[in-house]
Amino acid sequence: MSDAKITQISAKDVNDWDFEADVVVAGYGIAGVSAAIEAARSGAEVLVLERSAGWGGAASMAGGFIYLGGGTPLQKALGFHDTPENMKAFMKAALGPGTDEDKIDVYCDESVDHYNWLLDAGVSFKESYWGQPGWEPPYDDGLMYSGGENAAPFCSLIPPAPRGHVPQMSTKRTGEQGGGYMLMKPLVETAEKLGVHAEYDLRVQSLVVDDAGRVVGVASRRYGKDVYAKARRGVVLAMGSFAYNEDMVRQNAPRIFGHPAASIEAHDGRAIQMGQALGAETAHMDATEVAFFCDPQLLVRGILVNARGQRYITEDTYPGRIGQATLFHQDNQAFLIIDEAAFDEGFASESATPELLLQPTWVGETTGDLEVEIGLPAGSLQSTVELYNRHAAEGSDPLLGKNPRWVKPLGTPIAAIDLRGRTGGFTLGGLRTDVDSRVLHVSGNPIPGLFAAGRCTSGVCAGGYASGTSLGDGSFFGRRAGVSAAQETNDHQVTASARRANPMPLG
Ligand SMILES: Cc1cc2nc3c(=O)[nH]c(=O)nc-3n(C[C@H](O)[C@H](O)[C@H](O)COP(=O)(O)OP(=O)(O)OC[C@H]3O[C@@H](n4cnc5c(N)ncnc54)[C@H](O)[C@@H]3O)c2cc1C
Repeated sequence: MSDAKITQISAKDVNDWDFEADVVVAGYGIAGVSAAIEAARSGAEVLVLERSAGWGGAASMAGGFIYLGGGTPLQKALGFHDTPENMKAFMKAALGPGTDEDKIDVYCDESVDHYNWLLDAGVSFKESYWGQPGWEPPYDDGLMYSGGENAAPFCSLIPPAPRGHVPQMSTKRTGEQGGGYMLMKPLVETAEKLGVHAEYDLRVQSLVVDDAGRVVGVASRRYGKDVYAKARRGVVLAMGSFAYNEDMVRQNAPRIFGHPAASIEAHDGRAIQMGQALGAETAHMDATEVAFFCDPQLLVRGILVNARGQRYITEDTYPGRIGQATLFHQDNQAFLIIDEAAFDEGFASESATPELLLQPTWVGETTGDLEVEIGLPAGSLQSTVELYNRHAAEGSDPLLGKNPRWVKPLGTPIAAIDLRGRTGGFTLGGLRTDVDSRVLHVSGNPIPGLFAAGRCTSGVCAGGYASGTSLGDGSFFGRRAGVSAAQETNDHQVTASARRANPMPLG
């Protein structure tokens, strides 16, 4: 078996299995640990194979938002009303176009249950709401808006509620040890208590398939040797996205080529290719999350203009939505126009990302001066600021609907922060799975014995993004993958849903 060759391996060619378990999970991040827990709770013997020297993956580096709602105890305790219907309406509107409606429906209907599942596994959320603009709370607050629900255009269409749930962390260090670590740690401890066994430093490479086309194990490389693990019931792929596979990004999501962010190098697309080698279908391979590298405390206090000096998005929305709008529709060209007073106020604000409180690139005594400094078409910025100020004097923004809280006429001196090219992101597309996390063949049928979850699959996001949807759908559909794999039998006629309703004895 070579490192580069992506092919399926016939079970007939495997003479010795190095490991054997009912369920083999590839990848020990958020989707993997959730699958492992539920497979073990369903009575399966579980083996996790992890490429690096420890558990965690991107999940343990993450800020930790988990997108939950529909009336979680935390939302209620903090005085926010939410329903599964409102949550569905927002997700279908904001995460598309082309969302998997079945997935979003089940995700929202069972979101409160999922919150309680996390609590039961030892994840804790502080009863505290962070209401300031930001990428994440700077302290240990448990709840924050994380998708633009409270900004135009959604706030007037769908009753808003904050759904970014963040596990509590006492010694938070953004980018090193955040809420994601406090999500992973108790989940891994739960898995260990359930008897889940993990093998590290082992790179899963290919699927092993029997004569009937059923996945019966995986082939890996460890210290230059082939290692085979047999799965008596099922294999769960949970190996992350393809953000670090340059060829796949160039082919599928070229706009983020060269700018992977909020991801790790282990996200090399291998799980997707392993599935494809068996005829698996993929979905939304062009979809990407896009981070915008400027602190929202500055963004809300200024106006964002493109290379024509025109505004294009309300500045108080979810910064990831700004990132997508800038990269996809403005050729990655953006300038934040902000006056001195607003800059000073924003710069002095509390932030989880102080490194993104950027200094002005150009300063002008008048908007005309600034326009020349930036090199914008003559008159473009001046007319944009004049129009914005005319309505801002009355506290409104009829063009883009910015919340009056942030609408103030721009004065002088006036500055611009150069935000051209300040985006990066990770991929959201992957293997197409059903709501039971079964990997679907291009024929539409599940591939027997093969399950997947997390960013190697296409989850609840088809195009748009909200912070928390990756840890959210990774954990939610990871759990379902674990249950389905544990209950997989050779009788392919029985659906995983039916088995969930009428569990069969295992063993
Ligand atoms: C700084 C940062 C902040 C983020 N903030 C958030 C946030 O607040 N909310 C949110 O929802 N998302 C956030 N994300 C994104 C989120 O962490 C990931 O999208 C999510 O962890 C994906 O889950 P996963 O299980 O698919 O992958 P991971 O959690 O990365 O787990 C995949 C695991 O598979 C292993 N693996 C890969 N290849 C192999 C192989 N061949 N064999 C064996 N093992 C393999 C990896 O080493 C890894 O341990 C953030 C990411 C980063 C880096």
